[in-house]
Amino acid sequence: MRFFKTAQLIIVFLFSINTFAQSPPSVGQDHPDRTLPVEPFKIIDNIYFIGTTIQAASYLITSDQGHVLFDSTYEDRVPMMLANIEKLGFNPKDVKLLIGTHAHSDHVGGHSLMQEMTSADILSSEEDKAMVESGGDGSWAPAEVNRVIDAGEVIQLGDIEIKVHDTPGHTPGTLTFTMVAEEEGQQYNVILLGGLRIASTPLLGNKEYPNIADDMAATFYYLQNLPVDVYLGAHGYWYDLRNKIPRIPQEGYKAFINPEEYRKAVDGWQQVFVNMLVEESKALVK
Ligand SMILES: [Zn+2]
Repeated sequence: MRFFKTAQLIIVFLFSINTFAQSPPSVGQDHPDRTLPVEPFKIIDNIYFIGTTIQAASYLITSDQGHVLFDSTYEDRVPMMLANIEKLGFNPKDVKLLIGTHAHSDHVGGHSLMQEMTSADILSSEEDKAMVESGGDGSWAPAEVNRVIDAGEVIQLGDIEIKVHDTPGHTPGTLTFTMVAEEEGQQYNVILLGGLRIASTPLLGNKEYPNIADDMAATFYYLQNLPVDVYLGAHGYWYDLRNKIPRIPQEGYKAFINPEEYRKAVDGWQQVFVNMLVEESKALVK
């Protein structure tokens, strides 16, 4: 039965794959994207980058009723992130909601301290909640989840409306978020992609995450059918942020209108997934 399902999956993918797809970028431990500090800046409308490096990406969505913060990254970066919020003219105490894209140390490691320094409730998917609350089994400071969010839900705060999408695979509870930004009378569909890299193997017969292949396959299909004008992600190097920052003084928010980059990234990660699936499937056929 498992083999039948796998064969079906591969057939579906063979017809849907763009053979020119490239795997998305990743950066090594010493890469400048992990080490060079980044000044905070406006991306589009009420969406700001407050991460401390391009790798440690973090976003602030503002309203006059309080702010939403995505990804606390690492605990030792929290003071710098708070300073970044102030540099933009906002008050860290007005951060009301803190959301992690998924329960890995580089996204929720600073949750506990960030909550203490702001007035934020922590929101998480049901599937990643236990991981956030255990601090990744001791890898980071545990943080209590105040509210569970799920697919289709719209998070509201002042005039902020953020739609929640289930995109499991990278972790069982990885979430992606979309919102509509407005500039010069035009509306833009913004996506904050939670994670697509394969973080648990094998894909077939994975005891820790039995549904990983099904989840990832469904997530790719789902993401390929979302309307996207502005592609942001849980790491800045996914959407080539280092080459966009120098364009901001000239182009402003237009530097971030990148639908093609989004398609390429999703197709690229899907290609990596299919290649792995094909390799693992070969081992099933004796
Ligand atoms: Zn991760």
